[in-house]
Amino acid sequence: HADLLQRGFQRLGLSKPNPTVRAVNSVDLAIRRGEVVGLVGESGCGKSTFGRIVAGLLPPSSGRLNWEGRDSTSLRGRERVQAKLNVQMVFQNPMASLNPRMTIGDIIAEAPQVHRLVSGSSADFIDAQMQRVGLDPQLKTRLPHEFSGGQRQRVGIARALAVNPEFLVCDEAVAALDVSIQAQVINLLADLRETLNLTYLFISHDLGVIKHLSDRVVVMYLGQVVEEAPTDEIFARANHPYTRSLLEEIPEINTEKRSFVAIKGELPSPLNPPSGCHFHPRCPLATARCRSEMPVLRQIAPGHRSACHLNETS
Ligand code: SF4
Ligand code: MG
Repeated sequence: HADLLQRGFQRLGLSKPNPTVRAVNSVDLAIRRGEVVGLVGESGCGKSTFGRIVAGLLPPSSGRLNWEGRDSTSLRGRERVQAKLNVQMVFQNPMASLNPRMTIGDIIAEAPQVHRLVSGSSADFIDAQMQRVGLDPQLKTRLPHEFSGGQRQRVGIARALAVNPEFLVCDEAVAALDVSIQAQVINLLADLRETLNLTYLFISHDLGVIKHLSDRVVVMYLGQVVEEAPTDEIFARANHPYTRSLLEEIPEINTEKRSFVAIKGELPSPLNPPSGCHFHPRCPLATARCRSEMPVLRQIAPGHRSACHLNETS
């Protein structure tokens, strides 16, 4: 693995304004250069918090974020700035993060100009950035409200890519779009990954969306990783009852798994997570042991880990 960029995120925790709430607990994840990791779970499970920690927008209250094997908090000066630029975020609602009074061109060029990344004319720079995401450069003098949802998401992607990051954290980046537009934006992200050699952490509540882009799927429940496997393996042999219930919610999924009872009940409060396996109040397979003992994430096949007592034979 010496030739791979390893980013390890170990035991990341975050104290929210209420210090007793930890949105993310005991998450340990390494992402390789060029890999697309899909992070899936219901809203409120801690995946956005995790994404923000990875993007450097929130500090972990404990644990470490390693970038190419180095603790990101140890970086100073130019190295620290570069590390921040290297990881950019694409959000669900680009309107909320686009200044309504700035033209699209100015929005795209703002950060690169601040960081002196534009050599030559800024008009040429903006044109190239817009073309890269499939936007007509002639639209660069328009304001955000003049764009459709899909176009605005392309602007959000162009703005993120304008500082030459290696890594994008996409948080529900297509969730607000119509299905046909979703597919276009996912295809764009897939193309950009190839041409720019990007790495993604792709966060979504929708396994159907994650399927088309991700090499590996990480399933989160109440701030913990409950299953992790290559994407094909998750769709062919999902192990964890929570993952299987998420698959149930995808309409095109094969009828064979339909016998599994679909997910019941609300996501419990992370303030007061259930005892034992956090999923036990909603799990159709729960036993007495599940109520008292927390299962650990263990390997069940190469590259496939799951945290469920049903995997322990003895
Ligand atoms: Fe369900 Fe028990 Fe497995 Fe948790 S440990 S997922 S409650 S069977
Ligand atoms: Mg979220």
